[in-house]
Amino acid sequence: MATGTSLIVVEDGTNESMPTLWLDEIGADDLARVGGKAASLGELTGAGLPVPSAFVVTADTYRSFIEATGIDEPLFEAVDVDSDDSQALAEAAERAQELILETDTPPSVREDLLAAYDEMGDEDVAVRSSATAEDLPDASFAGQQDTYLNVSRTDLLQRVKECWASLFTQRAIYYRNENDFAHDAVDIAVVVQQMVDAEKSGVMFTSHPSTGGPTAIIEAAWGLGEAVVSGAVSPDNYIIDRETETIDEVTVADKKVMCVRGEDGETIERSVPEEKRNERVLSDEEIHRLLEVGERVEEHYDTPQDVEWAVYEDEVYLLQSRPITTIDDPEGSAGSANEAESQPPGAKSGVADGGAMESQSEAVRLSGIGSAPGRVTGVVRIVDKLDNLDKVEDGDIIVAEMTTPDMVPAMKRANGIITDEGGMTSHAAIVSRELGVPAVVGAEDATQKLRDGETITLDGDKGTVEKGANVPETTEEDKDAGPVETHSAVKPMTGTEVKVNVSIPEAAERAAATGADGVGLLRIEHMILSTDKTPSRYVEDHGERAYVDEIVEGVRSVAEAFYPRPVRVRTLDAPSDEFRQLQGGEDEPSEHNPMLGYRGIRRSLDRPGEFKLELRAFERLYDLGYDNVELMLPLVTDAEDILRAKALMQEVGIDPEKRDWGVMVETPASALSIEGICEAGIDFVSFGTNDLTQYTLAVDRNNGNVADRFDELHPAVLELMRQVIGTCREHDVATSICGQAASKPQMVDFLVDEGVTSISPNIDAVRDVQHEVKRVEQRLLLESVR
Ligand code: PEP
Ligand code: MG
Repeated sequence: MATGTSLIVVEDGTNESMPTLWLDEIGADDLARVGGKAASLGELTGAGLPVPSAFVVTADTYRSFIEATGIDEPLFEAVDVDSDDSQALAEAAERAQELILETDTPPSVREDLLAAYDEMGDEDVAVRSSATAEDLPDASFAGQQDTYLNVSRTDLLQRVKECWASLFTQRAIYYRNENDFAHDAVDIAVVVQQMVDAEKSGVMFTSHPSTGGPTAIIEAAWGLGEAVVSGAVSPDNYIIDRETETIDEVTVADKKVMCVRGEDGETIERSVPEEKRNERVLSDEEIHRLLEVGERVEEHYDTPQDVEWAVYEDEVYLLQSRPITTIDDPEGSAGSANEAESQPPGAKSGVADGGAMESQSEAVRLSGIGSAPGRVTGVVRIVDKLDNLDKVEDGDIIVAEMTTPDMVPAMKRANGIITDEGGMTSHAAIVSRELGVPAVVGAEDATQKLRDGETITLDGDKGTVEKGANVPETTEEDKDAGPVETHSAVKPMTGTEVKVNVSIPEAAERAAATGADGVGLLRIEHMILSTDKTPSRYVEDHGERAYVDEIVEGVRSVAEAFYPRPVRVRTLDAPSDEFRQLQGGEDEPSEHNPMLGYRGIRRSLDRPGEFKLELRAFERLYDLGYDNVELMLPLVTDAEDILRAKALMQEVGIDPEKRDWGVMVETPASALSIEGICEAGIDFVSFGTNDLTQYTLAVDRNNGNVADRFDELHPAVLELMRQVIGTCREHDVATSICGQAASKPQMVDFLVDEGVTSISPNIDAVRDVQHEVKRVEQRLLLESVR
């Protein structure tokens, strides 16, 4: 590593300012002088991590440049414009950038920069901006974070000035104006770094990007990292359990392109040689070496990191590291040198050198929970108000804080869905799965980081969002075939029934086409929530009859699509916080923990008038001939709940002896009271493992802080289920599962082994579950005859 040579160019009172500083002279305390990116690299260098050699043109140098040359005043005057006037904004940006680019750098700065360049080895370098401004919530306030690769000695000064000028792009000016942030309070430093001619490169999350749990994720591709960061290539994906140090999952992608250095030093995109396209990029040994580096970085900052890395001549290099911003509690990164860097890896600029690639701002990259499978490209439509829904066109990608039932028509048109909030059982996740629209939920600040109109690629399996278009071409036939099936299209015959969950009537046809043996759970709350009114407000505004009709129509379309296969319809179960968002929500209770509150059968028994309207809808459906409709009660505690509900059923004329009805087992109390529950006269129980897990383990299913503790396969949960299945078998009561865990192979194995009657997974998992069930059944048969 080269050591420092710093000239003094400006004297400001007592402090001497250095035009350049070497990384080993920099630490987190220098944030204001060198910017977040450089401070972070300096910190990592100081911690002995393998960072390529670099020097930094400090923020003071930029400041002294504009002051000594006298362009500071005209510069700040030029950008004092009304940023809603786009013409004025464009002119302001042009004028400001011109001032910087066309003013000569003072000779002393020039000499120092070139001397440092020569000391580094007189080879092409990477030049990156590193903005400095305290308290900036987002680097976009500061500038576009430009990066120029393969910069030669001749171009060095010009590139440094281009980085300075990037403080005055239209977007940067606009952001600062809109947020009342003074233009002269933002400075910029520039990092000049040795280029690593990477043979392989990529990114690494040192901990799980949404939960922060001990799972590292590495993405890797051939060549320079730009192909991964810009989204030009689908990288290999490696998932590592950090506790056991085992590589849990290796997904080798078909890597069609790679970025390399061209003959003149420029970055070019090239096809990957045929034999390497499907070759695994990282060996186990390399993964462990990378992980070790990642762990050291995480340890150093004491917060999970998002690391850009490269491998060259068998050496691992660390190119950049930032706190993972998609994990709850960004304060975890407070005090780190990365503070000013709130963007994820891809947020670094595009590449611009030698004209080989366009300079792009905001190559955004995000992670969340992959909640509906598939990889798609589309144009971002940020939907922050319902009246924005019209702008969502066929093939767009909806980006919203959270979806609501009113959005379903737009979600149907969309190619993909991304939300800031939500987990696997959120509205967005459920609806997107059922519509077959790939989705990433819980991406934390997608609505902030993505820009309306930009093209992105979303991967609903991996839960990632990349900049640019990067999907294999899809033919019309592929689209008609729906999601890719990993098994043959022939439905396997199984003794255990495999049903399907449905939450929105719009998904009925698609769900029925899976060949499922019926619907194991039809949630009616989506039908009610889509009216945008609470049940009582709806009845107040439109009358009881209309409310009953609303339910009848929603259920009928599903019952019709599946007839004569059974459709298990659950009475209303939405927590009060969901109702509170609707018209009439002000009359709903405000609860400290809605998951433990006024929902499911508790609410229904407390509001028998409203509950009986739901029951009347069932009665009408039976009258209409839908004898395949079954009635299911949610969140029961014990037999007492069931007997009270049964009495209300009888009051509206439903004969429990003639109809199939049952309850969800989703509280430990109901599991432990199963004997009495069976004796209440039910025909079936269905495990709601989302709730059963949350209540057994005391882990709020919506709380990201404890998400890594949410384990439906926990022995305590399985033991409750085992006991319930045993008792139900004795009482000839059918058993089923309709929680999210029904889609997990280990759960399927366990339940088939225990003798469950049916399994009801999500639409996208039906075919896999059918095959898994068949496999277990065959094993059991073989065992019994051997
Ligand atoms: C469950 O709890 O597992 C379940 C299926 O019900 P919901 O997710 O609607 O609470
Ligand atoms: Mg539930």
